[in-house]
This record gives sequence, C-alpha cells and structure tokens, in this order.
Amino acid sequence: MNNYFVILGAGKSKRFHKNIAKQFYNYKNKDVIEHSIEKSLSSKLFKKVVVVVNNPKKIKNKKYSKNITIIKGGRERSDSSLLALKYIRKYRPKNVFIHDAARPNFTQKLLKNLLLNLKKNKAVVPIVKTRDSIKYKVRNNIFNLDKEKAFLTQTPQAFRYSDLYKLAIQKKSKISDEVTLFLERDYKVKFIHGENQNSKITFHDDIKLPTTFFGIGFDVHRLIKDKKLFLGGIKIPFHSGLKGHSDGDVILHAIIDSILGAMKKKDIGTYFPDNKKRYKNIRSPKMLWPILSDLYKKNFLINNLDINLICEQPKVSIHRNKIINSISSLMKLEKDRINLKGKTAEKLGLIGKEKAIACEVIVSITKYD
Ligand code: ZN
Repeated sequence: MNNYFVILGAGKSKRFHKNIAKQFYNYKNKDVIEHSIEKSLSSKLFKKVVVVVNNPKKIKNKKYSKNITIIKGGRERSDSSLLALKYIRKYRPKNVFIHDAARPNFTQKLLKNLLLNLKKNKAVVPIVKTRDSIKYKVRNNIFNLDKEKAFLTQTPQAFRYSDLYKLAIQKKSKISDEVTLFLERDYKVKFIHGENQNSKITFHDDIKLPTTFFGIGFDVHRLIKDKKLFLGGIKIPFHSGLKGHSDGDVILHAIIDSILGAMKKKDIGTYFPDNKKRYKNIRSPKMLWPILSDLYKKNFLINNLDINLICEQPKVSIHRNKIINSISSLMKLEKDRINLKGKTAEKLGLIGKEKAIACEVIVSITKYD
C-alpha cells in the first residue's frame, strides 16, 4: 500500500466571487476541501494524504490522524503539484493520486477503480462525456467539435510515482492537469469512467443551496353569540362567532403571522392595525392575499403548513376537509402540504369553557433564485 494522495487546494478561486476561496467554503456542513481529505483518509488506501494550500494554518491539523501532511503551495497549480511530488519523494512512493480540492463529490469506488487499473498502467484518468456542444477557436475561426469524440478529464488522476515525477520536473510551462504531461509525450494513458457528480466547483452558484426558513404563528379570539364563525376562510355553522376587529378567523391570522415570521417581517398588527377604520370587519382572506403575493414575488415557496386548532367545539374532524380545501385554494397551495389538527383544552380556561378559540401554525418556506 505504498500509495499517496495529493490534494491541491492552493488556488485563489478568481471566478468564485466570494471573499473566501472556494476550497474553504462551507458545503454540506464542512469545508469543500474537507470532503476530499476525509474520503481519502477513510478509504485506507493511502499511506499519506498531502494537502497543498496557501495558508496551512487554515486546516486544523489535529482533527485528523497522523497520515496527513499539510504543505504550502506554489504560484500555479502545476507548481503546487510539483512541490507535493518533491515532498513525498523521501518516502519512495509507488503510486500517487493527484486531486483538485474543488471536486468534493468523488466516491471511494472511484479510488478503488483507479488503483486497480494502475496495476497494468502508468497513468489512469477518469473521464466523462460532455453534455454540451463544444466549439473550438483557432484565431478568428470557430470550429464545432464532434461531441461523441470529446470527453472531459477529471481528478483524482492516478500515476506511477516515478513516471509522473520524471515528467513533472522537466516541465517548464503550466499545465491544467497531470495527465497532460503524459499525453504531450504520447505516453499511454488508461481512461476509465468518471463520475458525473464529481464536477468541479468553479462558481458560487455550483454549490449554493436554497435556504429554508420556519415561522410560527398564534392567535386567539373570544366567542360571542350572534356572529358568523369563520375558520380557514369559510363559514362554519355554529351558534357563536369570533369577536374581533376583522372576521376573527384565528386560522388565517395564525397563518399570516407564521408567514411574516418566516420572512422576518414583524407581525399581522404591523400591516393591519386594529385601530384603523378601513380594516373594520375586513374578511381575513383580504389580509392574507397581500402577504402571500409578497411571499411568492420574493421567490419563496411554501413547503408545508401545520395547523393546531384549539377548541372544544366545533369538532375539527367534521370540518377538516372543507377547511383544508379552502386554505388550499386561498393560498394556491397543494392540499398535501397542509395539515390540520384538532385539539381541545380539556375543559380548562376560557377555551375549555367554549368561550374562545385559539390556533397555532408552523410554516416552512424555501427561497429559490
Ligand atoms: Zn386574530
């Protein structure tokens, strides 16, 4: 097992457009570069993992086993690669893998496959087919390349150490990957199937994940005789209705507050103050619509809505489907994203004595660009 794994992470990420170099950007809960470090270490295929970065302090050495060494990189990628090859020379390695830190999504199966193929070859390189058409420019002429004959080379690339070292120390100009050294000399290279998900992170958009937010809403209104009862935007037959400046629809009010909460936009009273005449007896769907249209305009989507309606009467189970249908059509939200639970207060307090109805809601929303 005289194999070494080199991770190149000294690039400045000029195209990434963030203050932080992409190899240190958080991706799936760790730095981009850490994915490659952990995968290569846990594969147990390598005697040592050599990480080449501009600022070695950035990688907390102690977190890892002794099998990792961090060295300072050079100006260009090829300089960093040569520094690593020179560094491991004293161990007399048999095989060396060279890998770009910006590819965190390779599998251990790929590592094993590379190593297996290295038994009969001096250079093994994973390739994938291009999905896009390729044009090639020579001076002012642009040519179309035959897509079927074109392929993309990825990393990790695996080599017999002695062969790669010999070629690398002779090379003066910069190269974008190590297999180029072999191809320039017409040396035989074994190409194996790469992995489409193992693409290189170049732009920030490559790894930007949509953000999800949660919001909570609560409302309670007193029940009074001779008023219509509105719940979830529809009239429910009942001997009493909910007292309020508006129609007192606790469900819609709690939904509005949960959405405002998830969007960090204060509360329902900020937008519909109950001392304003024009909101007197307003129907609650009219309060919901402007909040919802703002939500959708800002590219938020609702993942789900979970509602607790707290009352002794009326029985939620009898009206559940009607209420969910109403909320679904008011909010243009699929029914399977809405859940309505009925809860009593065990005859305790105002709600238990059937003098009030309360509602609490949790909403989850995700922002897409
Ligand atoms: Zn209310």
